[in-house]
Amino acid sequence: MAIASCSVCGGTALEPGHIQSTGLIYQRLDHARFNILEPAEIQVKSIMCLDCGHVMLFGDAEKATRIVEGKPVQPGPEENAEPA
Ligand SMILES: [Zn+2]
Repeated sequence: MAIASCSVCGGTALEPGHIQSTGLIYQRLDHARFNILEPAEIQVKSIMCLDCGHVMLFGDAEKATRIVEGKPVQPGPEENAEPA
């Protein structure tokens, strides 16, 4: 995710990472559908502003949309390839 500046102070010294306790932190969607073969947890990633300390949190919006709408993961081109 391309973030150019801090939403609090406007600083541009941003460092990506993730919020961690004893494991990774996941977003659990209240309206998740469970008829797809994909874990419903959305991993949370972060970017911290090195100027003011503000931490911005982000999740995988495409995955969240698939889970809420109950759409299965579309296979990539490598999964459709004929064996050699
Ligand atoms: Zn900042």
